[in-house]
Amino acid sequence: MTENFTGSFTQQEPIPAEAVAAANAVMQHGRLHRYNTVEGEIPETALLEEEFADYTGAKYCLAVASGGYAMTTALRASGVQHGDKVLTNAFTLAPVPGAIAAVGGVPIYVGVTDDLVIDLDDLAGKLDQSKVLLLSHMRGHICDMDRLMAMCNDAGVTVIEDCAHTMGATWNGVPSGRWGRFGCYSTQTYKHINSGEGGLLICDGAEDMARAIMLSGSYMLFEKHRAAPPPETFAQIKYETPNISGRMDNLRAAILRPQLRNLDDQGRKWNARYKVMDNGLQDTPGLRLINRPEQEYFVASSFQFLLLDWRAQAVADVLGRCKARGVELKWFGGAEPTGFTSRYDSWRYAPSTPMPASDRVLAGVIDMRLPLTFSLDDCAQIARIIRDEVSIVYQGMMVAAD
Ligand SMILES: *Cc1c(COP(=O)(O)O)cnc(C)c1O
Repeated sequence: MTENFTGSFTQQEPIPAEAVAAANAVMQHGRLHRYNTVEGEIPETALLEEEFADYTGAKYCLAVASGGYAMTTALRASGVQHGDKVLTNAFTLAPVPGAIAAVGGVPIYVGVTDDLVIDLDDLAGKLDQSKVLLLSHMRGHICDMDRLMAMCNDAGVTVIEDCAHTMGATWNGVPSGRWGRFGCYSTQTYKHINSGEGGLLICDGAEDMARAIMLSGSYMLFEKHRAAPPPETFAQIKYETPNISGRMDNLRAAILRPQLRNLDDQGRKWNARYKVMDNGLQDTPGLRLINRPEQEYFVASSFQFLLLDWRAQAVADVLGRCKARGVELKWFGGAEPTGFTSRYDSWRYAPSTPMPASDRVLAGVIDMRLPLTFSLDDCAQIARIIRDEVSIVYQGMMVAAD
């Protein structure tokens, strides 16, 4: 008898009771806007910023409306102007090139390796084209940050990190988001803490954060922030910086604070699931697992593997067969962008030149979510199903090739 998986790949855990209670308290007093406070009150938003700055070791933090907004704010605060080129990953999600386009920038794509990180050799050849790299730690894979930062520092290139998939992760013990000038996080439902929509921006630069706060729409209320530079820093910046509203509200902050306290525990749960998947798929013929260097501490909210150099039809067969057994896999190699997956050549507002080495990898990247509603047994079952179906299609290919 063949087994089928019956869980949902898009079902996250419920919001913890403590977070629901905190949200209720905000709703009961009605002061949802972050600057709507009574005498002596510290709003949830300011507390969240303080706690996230503390968690990451950053000097400053700003809570905003989305991860995409955190990135556009970082780009603007770094001085990116209309028409400027911005380096970024060819393998990432649409909000990343979208953030560059939002500030009038022009993305220059950098390739992906078969370990699913930015190709540093490709980057080396492109560093002279731009002053800024928007580095996406796509699907939680962290490149050699020591080498990347050395290269970018030598070339005078500012690094902005997209940490949508690396909240809680580190490279060589240093949190992702603490290597570049800014770290950008998302608190959207599918990320590591869930407020439906939301984002966090961290940095150490006083003027950088003053600009980011003014940009986010703080009017002249910046003194109500806590994880922020002193009022003097705003003296000129408050006149020079446009208000491009994108604040977070107290309701979202209230439900995020208890989740932030649980983040490290959640990370361990994700990684236990990842390990079961990874073990279950070891030595599957035709399937390549992703190598994770020991300097990388990741938070495995998703799982990837490669069907490298497979014909498109065979990959499609694997996806169809797994889907028939309840296992929903996503493919970055499909001809058309679907769901959350799209490729650099689908972002036609930002023209690209073909990247054959990256195309080879992208054509084979299979991706799945690993929600914490899956048990370890669920993960073992999913791995068995993938192993079976990959093996069957692979054997068929081998027979046909004989
Ligand atoms: C989700 C995501 C973002 C942005 O997040 P939003 O909060 O949805 O704007 C950025 N980068 C990557 C890689 C993402 O997956």
